[in-house]
Order: sequence, then structure tokens, then C-alpha cells
Amino acid sequence: MNLEKLEKILADEPAFRLKQAKEAIFSKLIENWNEASNLPAAFREKLNQEVPLQIDFKKFISSDGVTVKFLITLGDGQKIESVLMRHEERNTVCVSSEVGCPLGCTFCATGKMGFIRNLSAGEIVEQVLCVARFLKKENQRADSVVFMGMGEPFLNYENVIAAIKILNDEKGLGIGARHISISTAGVVEGIRKFTKEAMQVNLAISLHAPNDKLRNEIMPVGKKYNIKKILAAVGEYLETTGRKVMFEYLMIKNFNDRPEHARELATLLSQLPRNLIFVNLILYNPTGNFLPSKKEAVQKFKENLRRAGIIVTERYRFGRGIKGACGQLAGGK
Ligand code: SAH
Ligand code: SF4
Repeated sequence: MNLEKLEKILADEPAFRLKQAKEAIFSKLIENWNEASNLPAAFREKLNQEVPLQIDFKKFISSDGVTVKFLITLGDGQKIESVLMRHEERNTVCVSSEVGCPLGCTFCATGKMGFIRNLSAGEIVEQVLCVARFLKKENQRADSVVFMGMGEPFLNYENVIAAIKILNDEKGLGIGARHISISTAGVVEGIRKFTKEAMQVNLAISLHAPNDKLRNEIMPVGKKYNIKKILAAVGEYLETTGRKVMFEYLMIKNFNDRPEHARELATLLSQLPRNLIFVNLILYNPTGNFLPSKKEAVQKFKENLRRAGIIVTERYRFGRGIKGACGQLAGGK
């Protein structure tokens, strides 16, 4: 599927054609132009030839059926992964923003594969469409989208924002901005630009350590954007938007999960408005280098943060059995 090419073809047609085509793709979720009965037959034929709607993918369903991983092959043969997480009350799609990632975090399978290329806005949207088509067969819809798949969304800023605008469109997929989240490893220029965007989209920061020394050991990007710079940008974001920010914190055994790390983290975050921030603890999904923290260590860490007045949540681990959990996506490799 090539949404960019479709836009070009439709630019030469009367404006209502674009509207009709968009409705067919994003609202009716058609998979073949023949289903677009509102378009003339000859035009459907042309579209089938030039911009077919088929998406080339394989799906992997977890044994409990709660997580579905979609391995999508793009037009140039590159592969990306998207993950559907079926919560009781909503369906969340975790999308990729790049093929690979240049930031090389040592705990992340995507980081290990290096950077191949950015995704176009169409390729980002296509991932949600792929999942939405799957859900439609069960009379369900994609309710929320998180940019927590492969890649660093703020290194592909323009395309990510363009994709969000398409996902957001009420006449299309209609995914509310409040149900969309971007996670960044702390690309400060991105946080700054995003602050000015005045979107209701949620922001998450992958912090993972309470000081630069520890952080730089696992996140080389920390040498470019240290914690002080990141927190300054987050502070401005909070002040300007009044929206909450989530700090993601990986729990890695005997690395960043000790009581003193929890206390250091609480002190660090105390410079930000308490009611606008929360910490999301993520149990490390093994990708080679480390081990996940023990249950007791996570519990203690949580208690220590709470005692210091920090709001803490814990991430449910979706999709480990199908290598579809956080940090395990590597384009099917
Ligand atoms: N590049 C962005 C978004 C994609 S990663 C970022 O880093 O924020 C989404 C989340 O998964 C991040 O918080 C990331 O740190 C986390 N993650 C990466 N590898 C992981 C692993 N092995 N186990 C658990 N979470 C991991
Ligand atoms: Fe890239 Fe995020 Fe993985 Fe780090 S954790 S390598 S920033 S995808």
C-alpha cells in the first residue's frame, strides 16, 4: 500500500474523489478497490493497478490470544513489526516509526539491528490500518495507538506528526489524540517541537536510570542529551501544556533496581510538578545482556517511589511468547 502515491493520483481528480477514497480506506476499511462502490468502475480498476490496498503481512497470535504481532513487509522489502494489545476495555496498537533505530540502547533488540530508514507517514498509518482490518472482522476497532514499536519517533518527527493527523481524522480511523502516545528516548529537540504542536497526544520519556552515569551505560544517546537537558525540556512541556508525562523505567536486575536508585529517582523527579508526572515501571524483557528484576525488587522500588510521593504504575507484559513485547521487535529477525 502506498498512501503517498494515492494522494498524488487523487490530486488530479475532483476533490470529492479524495473524500470518497479516504472514507473507503479509513472508515469502511476496504481491502480492495472493488469494494469501493462509490467510485466508477474504471477508476477502481486504475487504483487497483497503481495503488493496490493489500498489505503484505504475517500475524503471530500469543497463546492467550491477548497479543497479536503483525510482521509487515513494506514496498521495498523492509520488514517492520506492529503489536496489537487487547485490553479488556480497549485495543491498543503499538506502531513502529523507523526500520531499526540509530540510538543503539543496549537492552533493545531494535537498537541492536542498527538504523535502516525512516518510515513514511503512510507506512505508519498502514500499520494501524492492518490491525483495524483484523479487528473489524470481530466487530472491534483500534482505540488507541502508542509509538513504542521499532524506532525513535522524534528522529522521524514530521512523518510521525503527519501520521497522527491522519489517524486522528474523525472521518477516518477517528483515534482521539488523547488515545495516542509517543515515547522518546529523550530527543530534546523533538520534545521542544512537540511542546509547540499543541496536540492532546501523550508524551512518554524513556528514562531508565536515575543518573547520567548509569543511563549512559545502557543508552548511548544520553551523551548527547543528558538527564538535566531532558528534564528541562519536560519541565517546559508541562508548564506549556499542563498535560501529564510518563517516565518509563526499565527494571533490570542488579543494575538500576536498588532502593538507593528509587530514592535517587524520586529526588530527581521532585523538581517537576508532582501531579503531572508518573513513573511506569517496565520489567525488562530479556534480549541478551541483562536479567529482569526480581518481583520483590520491583515491589520495593515501587514502595520507595510512592513513599516519596511519586505516582507509580506497572506495565503489563504483553506478547513475550511471540517476541512482541517492548524491546523485542527486530523486524522478524
Ligand atoms: N524509541 C522510543 C520508542 C520505542 S521503545 C523509546 O525508546 O522510548 C518503547 C519502550 O520500550 C521504551 O521505553 C524502551 O525503552 C522500552 N524497551 C526497549 N527494550 C526493552 C526491553 N528489552 N524490555 C522492556 N522494555 C524495553
Ligand atoms: Fe531505539 Fe527506543 Fe530501542 Fe533505544 S529503546 S534503541 S531509542 S527503539
